[in-house]
Amino acid sequence: TDMDDPPYLAPLNPPQREAVLTTEGPVLMLAGAGTGKTRALTTRLAHLIATGRAGPGDILAVTFTNKAAREMKERIGELIGEAVEGMRWLGTFHSIGAQILRIHAEIVGLKSSFTIIDTDDQIRLCKQVIAAEGLDEKRWTGRGFAGLLDDWKNRGLTPGEVPADEAHKFGDGRAIKLYRAYQERLISLNAADFGDLLVHNLTIFRKAPDVLARYHRRFRYILVDEYQDTNIAQYLWLRLLARDAEGKSGGNICVVGDDDQSIYGWRGAEVANILRFEKDFPGAKVIRLEQNYRSTPSILAAASAIIDHNSNRLGKTLWTDVPDGPKVKLRGVWDADEEARQVTDDIEAEQTKGRRLSDMAVLVRASFQMRSFEERFNTAGIPYRVVGGPRFYEREETRDALAYLRLVRNPDDDLSFTRIINKPRRGFGDKAVQTLNIAAREMRVSLTEAGRRLLETDEMRGKARTSLARFLEQLRQWQAMAETTPPSELSETVLEESGYTDFWRNQKTIQSAGKLENLKELTRAAGEFDTLEGYLDHVSLVAERPAESSDGEVWLMTLHAAKGLEYPVVFLPGWEEEIFPSGRSVNENGQDGLEEERRLAYVGITRAREDCRISFAANRQVYGRWQSALPSRFIDELPEEHVEVMSEPGLYGVKAKEMPAYSRFDQVAASDGGYDTPGWKRARSSRPRNPAPAIDGSSRLIASSVGGTSPFKTGERVFHQKFGYGEVKGADGNKLDVAFEKAGQKKVIASFLIAADE
Ligand code: ATP
Ligand code: MG
Repeated sequence: TDMDDPPYLAPLNPPQREAVLTTEGPVLMLAGAGTGKTRALTTRLAHLIATGRAGPGDILAVTFTNKAAREMKERIGELIGEAVEGMRWLGTFHSIGAQILRIHAEIVGLKSSFTIIDTDDQIRLCKQVIAAEGLDEKRWTGRGFAGLLDDWKNRGLTPGEVPADEAHKFGDGRAIKLYRAYQERLISLNAADFGDLLVHNLTIFRKAPDVLARYHRRFRYILVDEYQDTNIAQYLWLRLLARDAEGKSGGNICVVGDDDQSIYGWRGAEVANILRFEKDFPGAKVIRLEQNYRSTPSILAAASAIIDHNSNRLGKTLWTDVPDGPKVKLRGVWDADEEARQVTDDIEAEQTKGRRLSDMAVLVRASFQMRSFEERFNTAGIPYRVVGGPRFYEREETRDALAYLRLVRNPDDDLSFTRIINKPRRGFGDKAVQTLNIAAREMRVSLTEAGRRLLETDEMRGKARTSLARFLEQLRQWQAMAETTPPSELSETVLEESGYTDFWRNQKTIQSAGKLENLKELTRAAGEFDTLEGYLDHVSLVAERPAESSDGEVWLMTLHAAKGLEYPVVFLPGWEEEIFPSGRSVNENGQDGLEEERRLAYVGITRAREDCRISFAANRQVYGRWQSALPSRFIDELPEEHVEVMSEPGLYGVKAKEMPAYSRFDQVAASDGGYDTPGWKRARSSRPRNPAPAIDGSSRLIASSVGGTSPFKTGERVFHQKFGYGEVKGADGNKLDVAFEKAGQKKVIASFLIAADE
């Protein structure tokens, strides 16, 4: 310790200090949970800026969640003040990838106004592509294909790079063809999915070395938190950015990770990236931290005992001199409702003792477990906040409103167009939508553009025509308005003028009041952004509802979303076989799957600072079926001397082998037939969806009008579905004047005609 040390170094131990001060060259910080990796990384960032080694805009800093990015920014702000505002490149892989992609979109065929589509839209698009290929849609599902696409994109593979032998993985050997079709469709929609954000970046860097060179010059320092969870695409992206081919520039990369907390293997993350680091960046300094500053000895002992059962690990020692606290509490309960009631009671008791709600978190293995907690919290009037599972942004009204805004931003966004063109009803029915779809497909333009072109003809008549004309005119006005109007005002105007707000106002149902509130909330949230684009990106990438009360809310999230976070009190419910470890994960991936689940348990326990409460239910409904549940094997792995059992004596045992509850379960199962549909599932399946029109339609059209030239000659006899037989009189691009035998002279689109067979 030096008297001249800047004050921000004072709260660091020697290895942390080393990680901060070794600014040049590659650094790998490898250490267990709560040892201050993130703190060291944050201080390093502040140090680089404070000492003038780099400007705030010249550092690339990658965190795993947006929440983590926000927190890091706050911390740095405390250390260096205003300058933190210039940190443009602090965020998640996705958000930084999106920023870069917007700048160079044209290199991959997008416009910088591209839309980022969510999983729902991705699946819908997959379905369309599968249908267009004429595959059996029951056998080849959109969801299945979306999963495969994610897998490829996680590995950084474009259609041309997918190994040929993986074509069999889907759709009768046509997987790669489908991938191509899907990408083409996205480009024509001017849209990108999550995976594209990085894969397009990779393409850009490879196609345009000058662009990459620019980033090499810019990002003089690169920092990555939670490095153990990077997937191949992210790894490639970092490697491209971190050093140029000759090794002349770059190389000041600092990554931080813990192999025991690698929990995204299912999403393509590779722990191997940590091990490979020293090879890729020769001369890397490896720094290990062993002191845990977060948790009490009991919590740490419980976490260590569990992770010790994994064989595939680098192995670390952890110690703490945090004073002893309560033992880890373990409770067996009857079912999920009782579990939620118990947790709620505990939370209220803690609150009475003066604990803030925001100091408590409930971490579940699977999001379906959240429902019983949400319901219980609602009943008890406990404010809570769901993280990661974008609850607010998944709602029907939110998605509709966003579709309006997305369409304003990107008129080629057909998914959004389809969603709202007749919502509220404006006399533009399914048939009109279908006409529009066929025209768009034949002309290879977006629905908006097809609509504009159709209006120049007589194809669309009556109500549909007036309504389309009016809507497109409104859209044009909103677009113009978007140039100058702040997003919140724009959003309010669009929702009012489109009649969408009235749509809910007029319903006067119990739900509609809540829906209107959500629309207001959305407008309010938009107010935090300067541009519509900024807001929409935020929604696509962050999708979190802004905090409501400063006094805090209980946090409710999945274990995956809790990475890197810490709370004084942590509840870990649902420690039952099948749920945790997840049956699926173990079945599909065997020992590897089990070890990843165990790492998840380690992550969960190590989120707790003072108080960790594990529970399990004897009975649980999974997908609508009652099942008797066995306590998780992880419970058996807990060290007895650090655990206090809270179950009613004699009713629920602790050890799996002593679990007595099946007899009682059988009675329950028998009395209600063993079936029930839990609310969360009902809610999901009944959520109204706007099915996108099938992409292949009933196209009996033989004419194609690509390029806008008419395939018909003057004098040719043709047939039109609506107007019947006629004779071509003249052509203006793909718009034809046809004299119909019954309907008279009309202007129609070539693609709606077929040659009348003689
Ligand atoms: P995780 O693996 O869970 O991401 P981490 O290694 O990133 O954990 P941090 O979140 O940085 O750990 O730190 C854990 C806690 O310990 C934080 O509350 C942090 O403020 C505190 N801490 C870190 N370093 C020190 C230190 N040298 N002295 C005192 N407290 C520290
Ligand atoms: Mg951390």
